Amino acid sequence: MAAAAPAIDPRLGADALSFVNSRHQLYIDGKFTASSNGKTFAVYNPATGEEICQVPEADHVDVDRAVHAARRAFDSGPWPAMLPSKRGQLMQRLAELLEQHTDEFAELESLDNGKPVSVARVADVPLAVDLFRYMSGWSTKTLGSTIPLSAGNDYLSYTVREPIGVVAQIIPWNFPLLMAAWKLGPALATGCTVILKLAEQTPLTGLRLAQLIDQAGFPPGVVNVLTGFGEPCGAPLAAHDRVDKVAFTGSTEVGKLIAKTATGNLKKVTLELGGKSPAIIFPDADMDAAIAGAASAIFFNQGQCCCAGSRLFAHESVFDKVIDGMSNIAAKIKIGPGLDPATELGPLVSEEQFDRVTGFLKSGKDQGAKVNAGGNRSGDRGYFVQPTVLSDVQPGMKVVDEEIFGPVVVAQSFATDADLDRLAAQANDTIYGLAASIWTRDISAAHKMARRIKAGTVWVNCHNVFDAALPFGGYKQSGWGREMGAEVLNNYTEVKAVTVKL
Ligand code: NAP
Ligand code: MG
Repeated sequence: MAAAAPAIDPRLGADALSFVNSRHQLYIDGKFTASSNGKTFAVYNPATGEEICQVPEADHVDVDRAVHAARRAFDSGPWPAMLPSKRGQLMQRLAELLEQHTDEFAELESLDNGKPVSVARVADVPLAVDLFRYMSGWSTKTLGSTIPLSAGNDYLSYTVREPIGVVAQIIPWNFPLLMAAWKLGPALATGCTVILKLAEQTPLTGLRLAQLIDQAGFPPGVVNVLTGFGEPCGAPLAAHDRVDKVAFTGSTEVGKLIAKTATGNLKKVTLELGGKSPAIIFPDADMDAAIAGAASAIFFNQGQCCCAGSRLFAHESVFDKVIDGMSNIAAKIKIGPGLDPATELGPLVSEEQFDRVTGFLKSGKDQGAKVNAGGNRSGDRGYFVQPTVLSDVQPGMKVVDEEIFGPVVVAQSFATDADLDRLAAQANDTIYGLAASIWTRDISAAHKMARRIKAGTVWVNCHNVFDAALPFGGYKQSGWGREMGAEVLNNYTEVKAVTVKL
């Protein structure tokens, strides 16, 4: 275990600092433990590129230990026998503990991921708290139905929903705590047990959450938390034949690998993958709101959102105005370390992500895109990229076709004579189908357009609005299944039909 690095941000509060400097361990079978190989890896501060601390590097041996613990807790432990209301109470207790530690979690998330602490405090942490509260209510409401049979009146048939079993959950680095909550919430509410693998770039809030899960009193093995890399830890977890389901959020590329490896035992699979979501501005929109909304749609979380409004379509009569407005906003955004309370845009999460996004900027320029704002890195230290507005782009260019996952929007205009079908075809011209936003005062056009969009979420006159009660997920290559809402419960339960001859 290496010593903590020298320069942790002085703005970090005492609780967060004390956690960062503590010894980090895996959470398996209700115990905090080192990785079996004894290895650790470094966690970095993306605002400086400096090491923050070391965390255990789990491999297939730890995966095995965690799967066996989860298996035991599901097959013979107290979890499946526990009253649903008691499961719900544990989840509420977890929500309470998390809420009490809002500042600490916001600071840890900001330090680790780079996002503005002001955002983590009002979005990431409270949304995670809400998710646990909302899902706790479902623990007593996973209902079946009674079904009249055409075969005759002397039968009683009903369905019950039962937990799928042991679930492997693999999450990304863009909303580390919130993605953990989206995954854990429905699993716990339905009575599944979990092995959660955190993203290697951002393990801190997940490790701290493991302590709160322990403190809340969940039985051993119900939740197991691993830190490690994709290949040596995520892959054997997804492939494990004693796992009943894998739920993954991340890149479409890795999602496809997961789907393939899951065929070993035909475990159930849900995937929440990439996006290239359109934001469509009609000429009659409230222009100030639309411009500010479209800017926030792409710049929120440094553009590292699967549903970022990364392809802008504006009507030709307002196109210049929209570009100017968004470019003005981009130029004024305050860039800085996440822990600076004044920061509006933090660094990207990692050097790898910085290289990827700046590579896209180069490719856009090389292929003839016009840079209206940004276009370069910001500063010469850390992984900061300027909020960027590109125009003069068309399908076929990498910046238009591929997910950039950074603060970079590509803007195209649509013509006065374009009917809704043609506009929808443009908006839908992507392998992805996660989200879209439509900006207009014409209520009929809004609904007509919403019908034509091939995506799991359509926002009208807003973007990036999330709620624990709303299902979220993708059409096409944006994924399989849904998270949140009542919908997600179907992805964590099996249905059993019981028929009785009376
Ligand atoms: P990624 O590789 O898909 O990582 C997501 C998670 O999967 C991480 O926990 C990762 O572990 C794990 N993983 C990687 N390879 C695996 C494998 N073979 N089997 C099982 N698990 C594996 O995403 P990334 O490389 O961090 O980011 C690349 C791109 O993915 C981004 O630029 C963006 O386009 C997209 N992305 C999408 C979302 C989203 O919310 N939909 C989130 C993040 C990224 P490691 O941490 O060790 O890699
Ligand atoms: Mg990766």
